[in-house]
Amino acid sequence: MPTRRTFLAATAAATAGGLLLKHAHAQPVPDDEKVGFAIAGLGGYALNQILPNIANTRLCKVTALVTGDPDTKGRRVAEQYGVPRENVVTYDTIDQLRDRAGVDVLYVITPTGLHMQHTLAGFDAGLHVLCEKPMATDVAQCDRMIAAAEAAGRWLMIGYRVHYEPHNLRAMELAANGHVGPLRHFTGDISYNRRSDGSTWREDYELAGRGGPLMDLGVYMVNAARYITAAEPTRVAAYTHRPEGDPRFPPGIEARCTWQLEFPGNVTASSSTAYDMTNTNHFRVIGRDGWFAMEPATGYGGHRLLAETRGRDRGPADDIPAGNQFAAQLDHFAQCIKENRKPDTPGEEGRADVKVMRRIYEAAEAGEWLDV
Ligand code: NDP
Repeated sequence: MPTRRTFLAATAAATAGGLLLKHAHAQPVPDDEKVGFAIAGLGGYALNQILPNIANTRLCKVTALVTGDPDTKGRRVAEQYGVPRENVVTYDTIDQLRDRAGVDVLYVITPTGLHMQHTLAGFDAGLHVLCEKPMATDVAQCDRMIAAAEAAGRWLMIGYRVHYEPHNLRAMELAANGHVGPLRHFTGDISYNRRSDGSTWREDYELAGRGGPLMDLGVYMVNAARYITAAEPTRVAAYTHRPEGDPRFPPGIEARCTWQLEFPGNVTASSSTAYDMTNTNHFRVIGRDGWFAMEPATGYGGHRLLAETRGRDRGPADDIPAGNQFAAQLDHFAQCIKENRKPDTPGEEGRADVKVMRRIYEAAEAGEWLDV
């Protein structure tokens, strides 16, 4: 039985190099053999990243849309991407996609607090579900989503695109293969200075998944600490900060959160996230004998991996193939559906992060170290 770490190292090598090359030389797939995606939630991420990148996949096509605005936005986007008019439905009528020719997957790209509801509706309609991060508000919701996938006999994947991004795959490999010696410490920050009048779902406690930047952004650093250490944290301490009188931060939506994690085997982690600071997006992995760093680490592009070992700065790694993490993520799920196998980032991966994040909030509230 391979450990998660050896598995990750093997996947890293296979995906970062092999998969991309394989795609470059692979025969085109006829349209009727592609996996059809219904995109639920026509907001920023769906319109600017996912829909345009479906054209860069090998195995995927967009065949349906789910939106609260079918007549104006839905009609416009359907025309742009050649989606049949009858395949534009609302959140209340997802069931109309059941047995609809060419519709296989519901991709949930709606506010976090609605992920469970929309995922369950997808399984009820007999579809596979790709759900955006963070998976849901709490562990109980994650459990219901995982159970619903099992009951429906359909696959559930979480949209952890960086697991399909070559620099992050190399980072997993470096951590696993002893490049820095035994791991000691992970440190990472992710933030941006959010502009808002306080009226979006990210300021609505329930829609935001009962949290602020930790749920939205910090999830990347919680997830990175877990995929770099290939372990689950055992203890957590945390602190949240919320200035009074700023409409961006109503009760329950912190402006900043910092947390410490302890992992088995003498490994620690320290991270921060914020909605009121300039852009940060980096992590550093420190071992007994060396370190490596990623900046940007989990963004949409431009990733850089810097490595230093035993006092010698090796500069940026320049042999990492360029990749399209959005297309790779979509093709991975399509491939899994075709081969009827569990995706590399299943519901259990999303659940593990949600569990840690809920514990981070509880530790901040308690003001003391808690077991995870
Ligand atoms: P947006 O606010 O830009 O879009 C969300 C969309 O959800 C809306 O446009 C709307 O689409 C739909 N929606 C359904 N119900 C509601 C509601 N009650 N209130 C508001 N919107 C609703 O958000 P993002 O696109 O930035 O984020 C959506 C999801 O994607 C989140 O879970 C987020 O965490 C994730 N995300 C992931 C990223 C990644 O890199 N993996 C990057 C950015 C976001 P419509 O009008 O069509 O109904």
